[in-house]
Amino acid sequence: MGDKFIKDHIQRIKPYEPVIPIDVLSNELGIPVDQLIKLDANENPYGMPPTAQKNLGNLLLGHIYPDPEARYLKERLAEVLGIPFSNIVVGAGSDELIDLIMRMTGGPGEKVINCPPTFGFYKANAQVNNFDVIEVRRKPDFSLDFPEIEKAVEEGAKLIFLANPNNPDGSLIPLRVLNQILSLPTLVVIDEAYIEFAQGYPSLVPEVLQRDNLIVLRTFSKWGGLAGLRLGYGIFPEALARAIMKIKQPYNVSVSASQAGLGALEDLDLLNERANKMILERERLMERLKSLDYLSPYPTNTNFILIKVIDGDAYQIQQALIERGILIRYFNTPGLDDHIRISIGKPEDNNQLLAALEDLQP
Ligand code: PMP
Repeated sequence: MGDKFIKDHIQRIKPYEPVIPIDVLSNELGIPVDQLIKLDANENPYGMPPTAQKNLGNLLLGHIYPDPEARYLKERLAEVLGIPFSNIVVGAGSDELIDLIMRMTGGPGEKVINCPPTFGFYKANAQVNNFDVIEVRRKPDFSLDFPEIEKAVEEGAKLIFLANPNNPDGSLIPLRVLNQILSLPTLVVIDEAYIEFAQGYPSLVPEVLQRDNLIVLRTFSKWGGLAGLRLGYGIFPEALARAIMKIKQPYNVSVSASQAGLGALEDLDLLNERANKMILERERLMERLKSLDYLSPYPTNTNFILIKVIDGDAYQIQQALIERGILIRYFNTPGLDDHIRISIGKPEDNNQLLAALEDLQP
């Protein structure tokens, strides 16, 4: 009945399947929250960095609106990244920046390229912003189909989103292919949510200053251990940064998120040490997973591993792990229908996961 109030393109969107919050799941399973092993959302198992925690404990200005510029955080990011202040925009997670970029560019008749399997929010948010989504599917090894991307740009796509490394498989785009894509007449958004786990691969952040069609997104949610506080940032060509500042909500980044981000940037050494530990664990986990005949893990450059279930049912494996208090991701979308994804936990969490997976071997 009330549908007449809702725009047509919003009515056409399929409802979002929300994740079950960990405290709700804990009640449902009768397992205390601190005994659940959460390997389903690529968060940082080591928790918040200590200086972020300290800053939150000492928070004084929670009753005052935050700085719309988030200037202290941007000043510090500018120093750490070696990028001018005026090229940086901070958001409530990189999700908010993805939405702002789409709000800046989208509308009826506008086309955006999405390369699935990839992070589902690109397509969901493109639909909210009334884009025509041109799907250029990745090949079975998750590499990009450049000729098809080129064709979509010729058909008028003004924007392309690429996670690098990609979620859910963890692959990186070869630099040669990235350069080919950047030379196309389209705006390219490179989402580096997991770049801190891709050792030896260069971030594209410095490249933004050389081009007018490149945006790089980063987040504090994975490497930075601040997923719950919602903090991300983007490096934009200056004109685009100014446009985003015009359309964002004035107080999009809370006082607590800013303070936590400043704390995290004081703890860079510790965060890098934690990332290195996770990378070592990733390699250990990978070797053990390879030894299980019913599973086939993909190579990864992130804090998660995608696994094809070659003998058995991916959904049943996920359910059997939940009963043991271990939460992982299961996919039933095209190209991923018999796949699960596990985030890298602490060594003791990974050991429990491995024991359960050995137990579940057919
Ligand atoms: N990009 C990718 C590729 C992701 O996997 C995620 C988180 N799942 C995000 C962006 C969103 O990160 P944030 O928490 O900063 O919104």
